[in-house]
Amino acid sequence: MNKGKEWLADYWQSTRTVTDKKVIEAFLKVPREFFVLSGFEKEAYADVPLPIHAEQTISQPTTVAIMLEALELKEGMKVLEIGAGSGYNAALIATIVGKEGKVYTMEFVKELADFAQKNLKRAGINNAVVVHGDGSKGFERRAPYDRIIVTAAAPSIPEALAKQLKEGGIIVIPVGDAYMQHVVKARKVKGKLETQDLGEFIFVPLKGKYGLNE
Ligand code: SAH
Repeated sequence: MNKGKEWLADYWQSTRTVTDKKVIEAFLKVPREFFVLSGFEKEAYADVPLPIHAEQTISQPTTVAIMLEALELKEGMKVLEIGAGSGYNAALIATIVGKEGKVYTMEFVKELADFAQKNLKRAGINNAVVVHGDGSKGFERRAPYDRIIVTAAAPSIPEALAKQLKEGGIIVIPVGDAYMQHVVKARKVKGKLETQDLGEFIFVPLKGKYGLNE
């Protein structure tokens, strides 16, 4: 189904799948067609994942929007994303947190880190930085973060990410095996994570030290 951007935004609101105005506005503003491979522009607003480089995918718009709503983003926040992929999710977050906010998005695959950087630039996003490296260890240099989002499936919440989250902060992460995961939302309260299950989703596996592949 590819009825376009506005149709999808209306659908989310009428079905109450996603109601956070900030998420809806960012979705309407950021051109997803700048983040897909050339030849796929026409599919940019189909509610499906699309291929990018290195056998990875840009997540389905509805999945992205549900995760961003769960993140409870506010202007001025510092956010860490693991799994830059196309850079699209980082662009949405950067748009929501605004110029006082900052996004660090980590990418394991060099080709994709370059792809994300190029796409963000083309979309005119200048408060998101792509970091090439293993995000399962987090990005200590800029910690702690108000919010952390992981867009690849992990076997559990990596310890390093829990550590790098501020008190009161929220992490949203798919947890499970290679075939099926539950998106978990966790808030850090008195140093401990209080988790909530947002339901079943399918993601590509997290690579690296704490990933599913090694
Ligand atoms: N958020 C992306 C889609 C993510 S797909 C977007 O908006 O397009 C998941 C991405 O996570 C892939 O690009 C994959 O290479 C990356 N990835 C997997 N394991 C990783 C790790 N340990 N550190 C950083 N990136 C990782």
